[in-house]
Amino acid sequence: MKRPFNFSAGPAALPEEVLQTAAAEMLDWHGSGMSVMEMSHRGAEFLSIYEKAERDLRTLLAVPAHFKILFMQGGGIGENAIVPLNISRGGVVDFVLTGGWTQKSFKEAGKYAAARVAASAEASGFTEIPDPASWQISPDAAYLHICSNETIHGIEYQQLPDLKALGADIPLVIDCSSHIASRPIDWSRVALAFAGAQKNLGPAGLTIVIVREDLIGHALPICPSAFNYELVAKNQSMYNTPPTWGIYVAGLVFDWVLRQRDGDLQGLAAVEARNIRKAEKLYAFLDASSFYNNKVAPAARSRMNVPFFLADESRNADFLAGAKARGLLQLKGHKSVGGMRASLYNAMPEAGVDALIDYLREFEKTAA
Ligand SMILES: *Cc1c(COP(=O)(O)O)cnc(C)c1O
Repeated sequence: MKRPFNFSAGPAALPEEVLQTAAAEMLDWHGSGMSVMEMSHRGAEFLSIYEKAERDLRTLLAVPAHFKILFMQGGGIGENAIVPLNISRGGVVDFVLTGGWTQKSFKEAGKYAAARVAASAEASGFTEIPDPASWQISPDAAYLHICSNETIHGIEYQQLPDLKALGADIPLVIDCSSHIASRPIDWSRVALAFAGAQKNLGPAGLTIVIVREDLIGHALPICPSAFNYELVAKNQSMYNTPPTWGIYVAGLVFDWVLRQRDGDLQGLAAVEARNIRKAEKLYAFLDASSFYNNKVAPAARSRMNVPFFLADESRNADFLAGAKARGLLQLKGHKSVGGMRASLYNAMPEAGVDALIDYLREFEKTAA
């Protein structure tokens, strides 16, 4: 069976091979007589799944030894509270607002810390990233928070800011929910990265936190125990029952990424090369068309989430119905932005982007 191409922003498509493995192992994981969903998280079987997943993620993202990898719950939105509860010490925290996700993070942090805006792209309608040289970073901030890929507005940092070079030697926190494992992370610039799994890594319900060790151990007294990085780290992410199924499926995805090849490239480099080609192809088509448009400044365009609009918005419903009939699913834009959005996560094959472009071309002709 040929499956349709699924452009969902999240929960999003997973590699078909991963779904097939999970299906084949559903009733009996590796001769254990149990589904992964039925295993004790403290048993030898699950521990081997957990340890491989952690090891593979560390390899995949080249996570240095002085960072801990935590498998948590609560999603990206949970981390909007969990990060300030753990590392703000109740002081000042800075935000760079680039879209819907940083706006949400900023608002939530204000419950636990003195949240300030160091820069905002709101005046541009969130179509660009403010030049880091212009950021007003608080000298006393406990950290600065950015969203390295704004899923809704389609904005991505092509380079993470070097806060030290900007004169602010403070931890950088990145919400990388929607582009984790699509490109490398420069750990010399990042102190804490968090991501919900459901965009690029696996099912909803698993949240990945990668945090520099020196930031652990300073939680506010009101921080819930299950969300206290120190307790979670000390207990190998098993202070409470971890999202075992999510860890298992994400582990299959890590293994899949590590095995990808593209010419001489392997693993994350191969996946990144494909992601670059997919995004370039789609943006080139949109830019050449007068029927479709994308409003994001070219330097800030996301490889993962491509919002676009039809010149004639009265055709939106026709467009989506025609796409669905062709096996191109979930192209509707986020309600706050409107229009369309094509999410091109790791699991989207290049053939899916080609099929989308063929459809865009054809729809434009019939609409002319
Ligand atoms: C999807 C997303 C979130 C929210 O994740 P939840 O799992 O719904 O809490 C947060 N940040 C970004 C950038 C996202 O794309």
